[in-house]
Amino acid sequence: MAAPALTGPLPLNAESVKLAIPRKSPGSYVLGTMTDGELEARHVGRSDTDVADRLTAHVGQYPSFCFAYATSALAAFEQECELYHAYMSSSGAAHPARAPNSGWRCPRCAVFD
Ligand SMILES: [Zn+2]
Repeated sequence: MAAPALTGPLPLNAESVKLAIPRKSPGSYVLGTMTDGELEARHVGRSDTDVADRLTAHVGQYPSFCFAYATSALAAFEQECELYHAYMSSSGAAHPARAPNSGWRCPRCAVFD
């Protein structure tokens, strides 16, 4: 699995999130700042149930976001792992956590093996 195709970058505010993500769905996201038209990643995350709700909780923390819908909680987790390894693994940020008792494994590394 490759990193998910992201929508954005978009300004991170409640209105923008509501417009961009009208349906309740699992998903993953990247938060950061815009530099020369590109999103400079500062944080990656996911929601197993409602990515719009999760993004709204980050309003005010970062100026911009990109996101991708996911078809399931597991798919959201795998997307977050891909985004983490693509954008964040050299930053010292912690590896994404899996849902408790899920047995999920990162598609890119052996952290949960
Ligand atoms: Zn990993």
